[in-house]
This record gives sequence, C-alpha cells and structure tokens, in this order.
Amino acid sequence: MSKIFRSLFFAITLTLLFSANALAGPVLDRIVKTGELTVGTSHDFPPLHVKAKDGTIIGLDADLANGMAMAMGVKIKIVSMNFYDLLPALETGKVDMVVAGMTMTPERNLKVAFVGPYFISGQSILAKHETVVKLNDAEIAEKLEFILAVPKGSTSETITEAILPKAQILVAETMDKALDMVLTGKADAMMADTPFCVVADFRNKDKDLEVSQMFTFEPLGVALPANDVHLINWVENFFMTIQGNGTLEKLTKFWFTNPSWMKELP
Ligand code: GLN
Repeated sequence: MSKIFRSLFFAITLTLLFSANALAGPVLDRIVKTGELTVGTSHDFPPLHVKAKDGTIIGLDADLANGMAMAMGVKIKIVSMNFYDLLPALETGKVDMVVAGMTMTPERNLKVAFVGPYFISGQSILAKHETVVKLNDAEIAEKLEFILAVPKGSTSETITEAILPKAQILVAETMDKALDMVLTGKADAMMADTPFCVVADFRNKDKDLEVSQMFTFEPLGVALPANDVHLINWVENFFMTIQGNGTLEKLTKFWFTNPSWMKELP
C-alpha cells in the first residue's frame, strides 16, 4: 500500500468510526452497554403510576416502562420522584426517559422530545357537588371565588389562572397532598388529571365528592432527551407496534376499567 493510500485509508477508517459513534444515540448506546434502562416516574397518579403496598410503582406507566426494557433486552430501573423533579432529572441525564402521565406541552417540548400520545387526559376538578355544579358553567366558573389546590409543576398549576382567575391557589407537593387539602377542608377543590380525580372520588365514596367536566385536552407522552434521535426513533416504533397489535388497548382497559388493582394500594 502506498504511503498516501495508507494515510487515506486510515483517515477514512477514522471518519467512519467517529461517524458511527456520532450516529448511534448516546443515551440508547449507554442503555445497551450498561444493560439497564432507567425510567423516571412519579408515585401519585393512579392508574398511571402509584406506589403499591409493597413499595413498587404500579400502573400503565410502569407497564410501559417494563415493556420497553423487555423489548430492548435490558433490565428496568424505575426511579420515582416528585413530578416537578422529573424534567430536570431527564435534562441532567439522571434518567433515560420519563414515563409519568406527562402532558406533551409546547413549552416542555422546547426542552425535551416527546413520543406519544399513549393516552388522552385533561384537567378536572374534584370538589363537593355544589362547587362542581358552579364550575361546570364556564361563565360562573370564571367569577367563582374559592380555594383550589393544585399539584406543583403540573399543567393544573399552569392553566388555572387562565380559566379560573378568581380562585385562590394553594400549591401542593403532590396530587395526594392536594387531595388531603380537600379532604381536610383546607381547600374547597383540587384540580388534577381527570383519571386521578375519578380514582380519588371512587376511593372516597363517603366524602360526597364529584368530578367536574374536563377543562383541557392533554395528550400524554414519553419525554426523551432531545439529543438522541435513535432513542426517539426506537420509542416511536415501540409505540407504533403496541398500538397496532392491540397491547396498548389491552393495558389501558386493564388499568382504566377494572378496579381490581386497587387492592394493591396502601
Ligand atoms: N398531566 C399532568 C402534567 O403533565 C400531570 C401529570 C402528573 O402529575 N403525573 O402536568
């Protein structure tokens, strides 16, 4: 091999090596190399993610996270934290993705990538019958002065000012703490994703609560690091497959139409 040809060959090999590295997604690469997928979720939004009696996180989100790890052939590590800590954890690489009933808002999407929706949610209010009747009338709702608990960092927190400008807002650490404020009379109502309100209403039948109309349209998706096109592509194809083969529908039916899983809650 001539000297020039040899150095050319060396340069091409190097370029290929580097471009191969640049093409493989950095996060997906790490997941495969370490044999572990780290998924960030929260612990207070049944039936999507909730802490069971044995301390594990169960729900549709946990099933999706497990399904992805299985399809990748790696172990799953589910890390649960308060909802408002999830996006910072994703952006600093503490978790590989977030599966936490997260609404794909344009604002969040400027910072992270989303694949979805795997479920359509929205915000509802959980309150006593008289309050819900007033809130179901948009004109009355706009003028209603009442104390509303909202979970920190959620879309409930961001939309209330626009739709309920006269409400006095109490920001709670979690959905459960917002519910506590209603049950103990500290707040007149709470706002959260409709499925949470429906489950809370079901589990507190003696409290004479009711769930309002849905105030918003919220597509829930998986949040992913914006710099890993390969991982985003992998998750898109995973969801296309489980949507096409009926798995997502079966899982959704299990968690949303059959209350048997509630036995596992504390
Ligand atoms: N869907 C809501 C949001 O994205 C709340 C989700 C949650 O608290 N887990 O803000």
